[in-house]
Order: sequence, then structure tokens, then C-alpha cells
Amino acid sequence: DVLVCCSKVAHTYGTGVTAVEAVTDISCLVTTSTRVAITGPSGSGKSTLLHLMAGLEIATAGVMEWPGLGGRPLARPGRIGIVFQGPSLLPALDAMENVAFPLLLAGTSDLDARELALAALQRLRIADLAAKLPQELSGGQSQRVAVARVIAANPSLILADEPTGQLDHHAASLVMDLLLQAADELGAGLVVSTHDPVVAARLPEIWRMRDGRMLAPATTIPTPGGLL
Ligand code: ADP
Ligand code: ADP
Repeated sequence: DVLVCCSKVAHTYGTGVTAVEAVTDISCLVTTSTRVAITGPSGSGKSTLLHLMAGLEIATAGVMEWPGLGGRPLARPGRIGIVFQGPSLLPALDAMENVAFPLLLAGTSDLDARELALAALQRLRIADLAAKLPQELSGGQSQRVAVARVIAANPSLILADEPTGQLDHHAASLVMDLLLQAADELGAGLVVSTHDPVVAARLPEIWRMRDGRMLAPATTIPTPGGLL
């Protein structure tokens, strides 16, 4: 199932003399079996590409299509789940309520939302965090709750933008394990942007970016030491 199809896509922020072409001539496919890391130095366009895939930004050239998602993702709530780098939990809600919150917004009943939230936390073996407030969670724990929030909505595509950017290696590797586990259990595609080659190596496929262009769109199995 093809979820996202990018054909010669570019994205420019701003206009005139302040215009910045963040990504240029990107062509790639994301399917339900995609498990890919997008790597490259800071400013190479990873985030912008993820935002285009999420429909959060609009391509200024080329064509973006979402055949397996039934159209532009933001108009189809629940089809994609996004994990961001920084703190993204609502501080006044405990972990379980944070996971339930998007389901409530989508119209799920309070009881069902709580049940689904708890099930998602259990699947990730972090049910012990359910009653904790975000301020009581470590960075790694917060990101694991953010992954639970994504999987509770049963998306067919998981996008994670530098999800381990603020974590040490141990916490980063736990979060990567959870993302892979979630993608497998949901049968969802997984795209993770990261500047960290060690994190990228956790995924079977790597797309490298440099100055807004994709260097290796083909399927690549990384060899140890052969990163970047
Ligand atoms: P990465 O995720 O690899 O760090 P980004 O996609 O964030 O790369 O950025 C690519 C380029 O686009 C950079 O030159 C960056 O400065 C620029 N850029 C990103 N977001 C914006 C924005 N909202 N407005 C203007 N320029 C931006
Ligand atoms: P990090 O603190 O780097 O994000 P982890 O989230 O992986 O790392 O936490 C490592 C271990 O330390 C976990 O098993 C967790 O139980 C414990 N821990 C870390 N910070 C806290 C905290 N604020 N409250 C409770 N336990 C914590």
C-alpha cells in the first residue's frame, strides 16, 4: 500500500530575497512496509520533508499524493501520527489523559478513549506511567508516552521528527524500539528523521539528505561503520 508519493517535490519558505529553498527535487515512496531513517546534517531539509509528508507544509513545486491515506492527511484525522522532538505532552494532563486527548478531540467517548489510551500504554509496557504528570517524567519516558499517544489512534503512517534529539543513547534506543514495534503491530509505515547515525542505523533503510536534496533514495542496507 503506497501511503505517500513525492514526485520532484520542492519547498521554499518565504518569498523574494528572503526565500529559502529547503528541499529540492525530492522523489520517494512511503508504503506500509517502509521503515526508513532520513539522515543528514542540520538544515539539510529533513524536517521540511517530514512536514510535507504530513501535509503540514504545501509543496511549492512537484506533486505530493497520499493514495493509501485517502487524501491530504490533515483532512483525514487518525491516518497519520506524528512524534516531535521536544516536549509535546500537555502539562496539566497525566500520561493517560495525554494519550486519550486526541481521541477525545476526534469524537471518541470518554470511556473508550481512556480504554484505548491504557491499552496503548500497556502495549508499550509503560502502563506504570499512566498517572504521572509530564513534569514527573524523564525525557525518554515523555517520548515513550508520545509514541503511545500516536499508536492509540491506530495510524497507517508514523512520522517522527528527531524523536530522540534530546535523549541519551539508552533512552534513544528504547524510543526507536517502540517506534519499530508500533509500526509492526499497526502495519504502519515509519519515517524517522535524525541527524544521529547511531539512531538511523536502527532502521533497515536510510535516505540521506544534503542541502535539500536526497542523496540515496534507493533501498540501502547500512553496513556498520558505513554510515554518512
Ligand atoms: P533539518 O530538519 O535537516 O534541520 P529543515 O527542514 O529544518 O532541515 O531546514 C531546511 C532549511 O530550511 C534550512 O535552511 C532552514 O533554515 C530553512 N527553514 C526551515 N524552516 C523554516 C521556516 N519556517 N522559515 C524559513 N526557513 C526555514
Ligand atoms: P532519560 O532520563 O535519559 O530520558 P530514561 O527515560 O530511559 O532516560 O530513564 C532511564 C531509567 O531511569 C528508567 O528506567 C526510569 O525509570 C528512570 N528514570 C529516569 N528519570 C526518571 C524520573 N524523572 N522519574 C522516575 N524515573 C526516572
